[in-house]
Amino acid sequence: MAAQPQRTVMPRHVDEIGSFDLETDVLVIGYGCAGAAAALEAARSGARTMLLERAGGPGGSSALSGGEIYLGGGTPIQRACGFTDTPEEMAKFLLAALGPDADDEKIGHYAEHSVAHFEWLTEHGVPFKPSLWDSPSWVPPSDDGLMWMGENSWPYNEIAVPAPRGHRPTAEGFGGRLLMERLAAAVSAARVDARFDSYVTNLVLGADRGVAGVVARRYGAEFTVRARNGVVLTTGGFVDNEEMLALHAPQLVGLGKNSDGADDGRGILMAQAAGAAVKHMSAGQIGISLIPGMIARGMIVNGKGQRFINEDTYPGLVGQAALFRQGMDVWVIIDEQGYEAIPEAERWGVRPTQVADSPGELAELIGLPPSALRSTVEVYNRHAKNGEDPLCHKDSRWLRPLSAPFAAISVAAGMNAPAEGGVESGKGASVFTIGGLRTTVHGAVLDLDGAAIPGLFAAGRATSGLHSWGYVSGTSLGDGTFFGRYAGRAAAGGNGTP
Ligand SMILES: Cc1cc2nc3c(=O)[nH]c(=O)nc-3n(C[C@H](O)[C@H](O)[C@H](O)COP(=O)(O)OP(=O)(O)OC[C@H]3O[C@@H](n4cnc5c(N)ncnc54)[C@H](O)[C@@H]3O)c2cc1C
Repeated sequence: MAAQPQRTVMPRHVDEIGSFDLETDVLVIGYGCAGAAAALEAARSGARTMLLERAGGPGGSSALSGGEIYLGGGTPIQRACGFTDTPEEMAKFLLAALGPDADDEKIGHYAEHSVAHFEWLTEHGVPFKPSLWDSPSWVPPSDDGLMWMGENSWPYNEIAVPAPRGHRPTAEGFGGRLLMERLAAAVSAARVDARFDSYVTNLVLGADRGVAGVVARRYGAEFTVRARNGVVLTTGGFVDNEEMLALHAPQLVGLGKNSDGADDGRGILMAQAAGAAVKHMSAGQIGISLIPGMIARGMIVNGKGQRFINEDTYPGLVGQAALFRQGMDVWVIIDEQGYEAIPEAERWGVRPTQVADSPGELAELIGLPPSALRSTVEVYNRHAKNGEDPLCHKDSRWLRPLSAPFAAISVAAGMNAPAEGGVESGKGASVFTIGGLRTTVHGAVLDLDGAAIPGLFAAGRATSGLHSWGYVSGTSLGDGTFFGRYAGRAAAGGNGTP
């Protein structure tokens, strides 16, 4: 059982502590994907490494996730599936899709060393199958090793040469559990001292205002750990902390949460209390409650009955547009032919909520202006006949005139992902936070002057990683493991580059 939070997040001073209960070289806080990667690299650097995790075992949100990891630049899986890719094209896509003002320097490193990171994952036992899932999806109901993340949709197909970069561990559906099982097995083999049920509450500052260790609680009892070389915070985001959401990301309040329930932001707060700067705290991934294959074959409309985005793009970008530009007042419209074309396993149990013989009648049933929806479908069909979508630029592959009977699907009604996904229903979207601590490429946590706080490192969703505002799937497990490795290495005393 996880210990209860301690009220104050303010750092303690080494003088108050006297002697520490435990000592190590590198101390990693939080055992999700970023923590596992940091611990592995710290241990590989020869540092004595300890991991403290509040839960009873490893995993975090990483273990609940789809397992998609954003990798490219010409990985063996891309090549085996017949795709050519380069770090330059990968970086161009990421800069556009994760922007505006995505982290240029981090993206540059990430794209340049992405093939090496793929090799690192496979060396640590993460398997990928050389086959492509070729349709927009949250998590494909298959074990295909590769999927698109919107690279082949407008406007990204005009910005960078498209190549699929969503890499999936070989598991049917959600692959996060397999990813974490393999990384945890590697952590055990590396003789990292992993301690569970240990909730870190405060940082301990040394004489130089650098971080010297932490205070933690286990079963109600406080203990202290000295970190001779550095502390790495890999504690995840803050979607489970209502107060932080209200302060930084009010548009995410009241929505479902994509997390293991432990994303309470404590790691971010402890670092802020020690002087750390934060970045992009209002940004969020919006897992809108719809099946991507349904909107690709049909359309999504707003409360005025109008389309507002190309429906074949990455569904999180549809979610951001729906929440931030349409107030989540959106409906999925599809015809029978489109619905029937979607394999049962891909539907996640989502069914039409209203059916009618014409767009006008359908609009009346769901409370949209009938003439507007009639006109939207008429314009869509007129151009779809010619394989064109001048309004929203959906790819011709998904364009076909829609015909009766027409169905509407309520996004507000929500949906249930397969059980292991833990996605809540009934709120229109499940979200997690993207912003966090401001770090260098090598994981050093920066203060308000832009200077590194001695002894403090961070990675994963506790930090602002590759992203500013935009998000595509795979970039969390991707930047968590990638920059986790860098942070572990740097905390051990190396230059950070594995
Ligand atoms: C259903 C779902 C599907 C997803 N699918 C994908 C996907 O396919 N691809 C992708 O890239 N992302 C996906 N994500 C997002 C992704 O899983 C997370 O953003 C990512 O796992 C974060 O990794 P992390 O290591 O930073 O944090 P986590 O994996 O959450 O690990 C943080 C750990 O820190 C521990 N912790 C927190 N505070 C403390 C403390 N004070 N003391 C001690 N321990 C502490 C927590 O218990 C937790 O174990 C998905 C998320 C969900 C929920």
